Amino acid sequence: MLSALSAYQRGLAGHPSQICYAVKANPSLAVIQLMAQAGCGFDVVSGGEIARVLAAGGLASRIVFSGVGKTRSEMVDALCAGIGCFNVESVPELELLDQVAHNMGLRAPVSLRVNPDVDAKTHAYIATGQKVNKFGIAHDDVLSAYQRAAAMPGLDIKGIACHIGSQITVIDPYLSAIDRMMDLVLAIHAAGIRLSHLDLGGGLGINYNGETPPDAEQLLRQILARLDARGFGDLTLMIEPGRSLVGNAGVCLTEVLYLKPGDPKNFCIVNAAMNDLPRPAMYQAFHQMVPVCVRPDPLVTWDVVGPVCESGDWLGRDRLLAVEQGDLLAVLSAGAYCMSMASNYNSRSRAAELMVDGPNAHLIRSREALSDQMRHERLLA
Ligand SMILES: *Cc1c(COP(=O)(O)O)cnc(C)c1O
Repeated sequence: MLSALSAYQRGLAGHPSQICYAVKANPSLAVIQLMAQAGCGFDVVSGGEIARVLAAGGLASRIVFSGVGKTRSEMVDALCAGIGCFNVESVPELELLDQVAHNMGLRAPVSLRVNPDVDAKTHAYIATGQKVNKFGIAHDDVLSAYQRAAAMPGLDIKGIACHIGSQITVIDPYLSAIDRMMDLVLAIHAAGIRLSHLDLGGGLGINYNGETPPDAEQLLRQILARLDARGFGDLTLMIEPGRSLVGNAGVCLTEVLYLKPGDPKNFCIVNAAMNDLPRPAMYQAFHQMVPVCVRPDPLVTWDVVGPVCESGDWLGRDRLLAVEQGDLLAVLSAGAYCMSMASNYNSRSRAAELMVDGPNAHLIRSREALSDQMRHERLLA
């Protein structure tokens, strides 16, 4: 995690910049705490994530708040906390934020999130920067939205933002996005509105199964070179990486409960499931699996499945493994969008989390108790 972060830090060295870790990738308090200690700001998408950042010792002034559906009460809480910037995603949101801030006697720091209509060449569910996606303000409407924002007394325009998707493994979409964003910055400056930062979002991919995403340091050098070439050397570059900081820092350890060989499928039933690690069920995502106990042959092809009562509850299909009942399997690349998407489906308690630092392991989340699951429920009187 920290070595992934340092690649970003090296790539940005010498340029005004701010790394805002995207909390939704892995919102564990101890993860946020380490990121804060390493100098990160945070990209959040809910009032809950703001509360987590503050509880873990992050600075409110380094929070950027994204998301298409911010509520009035989230706006109030974020303004009270003194967050760094709202990344506003529509004109009606701009109007509500102006009203809320004005009523509080404040000016809300804002950027507009642009939908730059760039193809991130990733899974449809995690592409966010094309016209068919719900995110951001359409490129063609951005200038007029800035002009409206500039006339609102409750707003203080700070910058411009975009985020084109996730698990991006090629450089081109980023370069197209930065070019389109710089065109907009020029137009906005020409209209007499000054921007002090450009937020390029997150989205850099990781190696799950042989993908070869660009190195963060190289990618940032290319982006900064483009900014400098067009005279934007003094514009602060903000980025919002999530998956690429934490994804490959996490594994999910699971025990083989039963082996159920058959025709045409052999099933390896483990005690982790789609409620713990939803990416395979949600996106047909691939996670490598490594037996913790190395056995000699025979290698057998297994579908590795969980106990949840859904056929979509699988963690890996057609995996060649030498396993026996009682063995532990490590499901790799589970640091991002796994625990953060975990649920109690099938009334299963959420797993414990350990943070490993060299030879030391720290318990950062206890296993959820059954009483935790039922805490907010009431029987009828
Ligand atoms: C999810 C998200 C990110 C982080 O995306 P990764 O693919 O995890 O890097 C950054 N910015 C915004 C606005 C997001 O919604």
